Amino acid sequence: MAKIPIDLTKGALKEVEVPKENVIIGIDLGTTNSLVAYMLDGKPTVVTDHVGKNALVPSIIHFESADSVIVGQDAIEKLITDPENTIFSIKRLMGKSYQDVEDYKRFFSYQVIDNEVEDSLVKIRIKDKFYTPIELSAKILEQLKRRIEKTLGAEVNRAVITVPAYFNDAQRQATRDAGKLAGLDVLRIVNEPTAASLAYGIGLDAEDTKTVAVYDLGGGTFDISILKIEHGIFEVLATNGDTFLGGDDFDRAIQEYWIEEHNFDTDNNAALTQELRLAAEAAKKSFTKKATFETTINGIICKMTKVQFERLVESLVQRTLSSCKNALKDAELSIEDIDEVIMVGGSTRMDLVQGTISKFFNKKLNNTLNPDEVVALGAAVQADILAGNNKDILLIDVTPLSLGIETVGGLMDTIIARNTKVPIKAGRQYTTSVDGQKNLKVAVYQGERDLVADNRKLGEFVLRGIPSMAAGIPKIEIHFLLNADGILKVRAKELRSGVEQTVEMRSPYGIS
Ligand code: ADP
Ligand code: MG
Repeated sequence: MAKIPIDLTKGALKEVEVPKENVIIGIDLGTTNSLVAYMLDGKPTVVTDHVGKNALVPSIIHFESADSVIVGQDAIEKLITDPENTIFSIKRLMGKSYQDVEDYKRFFSYQVIDNEVEDSLVKIRIKDKFYTPIELSAKILEQLKRRIEKTLGAEVNRAVITVPAYFNDAQRQATRDAGKLAGLDVLRIVNEPTAASLAYGIGLDAEDTKTVAVYDLGGGTFDISILKIEHGIFEVLATNGDTFLGGDDFDRAIQEYWIEEHNFDTDNNAALTQELRLAAEAAKKSFTKKATFETTINGIICKMTKVQFERLVESLVQRTLSSCKNALKDAELSIEDIDEVIMVGGSTRMDLVQGTISKFFNKKLNNTLNPDEVVALGAAVQADILAGNNKDILLIDVTPLSLGIETVGGLMDTIIARNTKVPIKAGRQYTTSVDGQKNLKVAVYQGERDLVADNRKLGEFVLRGIPSMAAGIPKIEIHFLLNADGILKVRAKELRSGVEQTVEMRSPYGIS
C-alpha cells in the first residue's frame, strides 16, 4: 500500500486514536539488515547497539539450541562455523510455498523443507524442529524490540513495519503475524519506498509539487516507485521491481567467478560456500573506496578488480533499468517528468549503480541520507503521525493495482480500481449463465489488463449450494473488503437464498 498524507485543513478525515504517552516505533524488517527508529525530540532517530555504534541489525538468526537463539551481529560468524543452524535472508521466504523457492533452494545453507502439500508454505528445519519464516522473522523483531526498550527504559508494544512495495497479501499478512508473535501490535504495514519519501520530508510541505522516483536496491529486493506530490497529497503513479534482485546477487556473481577460476569444490561444503559469500561481499563493498581486492580462502588467493566487478554485474544493474522503464510507462511519464530521484538501500552505494541511474534519469541523485537508514527513519515519521503527534497531516493508503474477478470470456471485471483509497468495501452483482447452476467459481485477479490471463491471480474459490433456479435468476453479490494493509477479503453471496462464502486472499505465492 502507498501512503498519501492529507492536509487536515482540506479534508474531513478522522484522526487515528492512539494514546500519546505510548511511543510507536518504526521498523525496517530487511532481507539483509533490520533497524528500529523512533521520534526523538521531533527528529526521526535510529536506535544503535549498546556501544552506540551500529544501527543495523543483520537479519541473521543462529540457533545454539531450540531455546538459545542469537540474532544480529553476533550470529554472522555462525554463518561459517554452523551454517545449518544459521538463518539468513528469511524475508525471501515470507509467504512463499516450497514450489516457489525450489529453483534457488541451494542458495540457502539451511534446510528448506517441502511438506509435500501442494502450495503449502515453506518450513525451515533447524535441528529437530520445524519453523515457519514468520516465527524466524519474529526473532528479529523481538531483538529490535529489546533494543529500543533498553534505550528508552520503557516497554514498547506498537509498531509500524515496512515491506517492499511488491509484497503480496500473503507476504504482508506474514509480516503482520511476525509482529504479533514478537509482542508488537502492528498498526500499519507500510511500503518501503513510501517510508523513504517521508524520511526525505517529501509531501510534508503543502507547497511542494513534484514527481519523484524512489530507487531502492537492498540486499534481496529491488523496488522502483514513482510518486506524484501535489498540495501536500502524494499519489503513487506506478510501482515496479524485482523481488529476486539485490546485493546478494552481486555477491553471488563474484562468488561464482572465484569458484570457477579456482575450481573450489563447494558441494556439501556449506562452510566454504559461506566463507566465499562473505569474502565476495567484502570485495563488493571495498570497491566504493578501492580499485582492487584480494583475500585468501582455503590457502588460495582470490583477487578481483573494480573494472572486472563492474563488467560482471553490468547486466544486474541493467535489469533494474528495465523495471524503471516499465514504471515510467505505467505512470505514462517520460524521464523529463521526474523532478527528483531518491536512492535507498545499501546497494545504491555502488558507483556503477549511482552512475547508471543518474545517467538514466539525467539527474543529480538524492542520496544525502544514509541509504541503509532511510526506510526506518520514514517508518518512525509515519509512526509519529499515527500517534497523533503531527497534527498537520494524516496518512491514508491507496491500492496500487486494480482488483477484480474473471467474467465470461476470461475478461477482467474490476471491482476496486487502482489508486482507490483504502480501507474500502465494494461489490457488484452477477448471475448464473446456465439453468439450475449450483456452483459459481470466483477467481480473483490483480492488474490493469483487460484479459485476466495478463493479470496476477490472487486466488479462487467456489460458491456452492446455489438453489436450482433458471439462468439469470440468482442474484450473486461479490463483495471485496480491502483493509489498510492491502489484505483482501472476498465474499460471495447468493442474495435470494443467503448462501454465502468468505475467503481471505492469501495467495499467490511468488510473483515475477
Ligand atoms: P535490505 O533492505 O535488503 O535489508 P540494505 O538496504 O540493508 O538491504 O542493503 C544491504 C545490501 O547493501 C547488502 O547486499 C550489502 O552488501 C550492500 N551494501 C552495503 N554497503 C555497500 C557498499 N559500500 N557497496 C556495495 N554494497 C553495499
Ligand atoms: Mg531495505
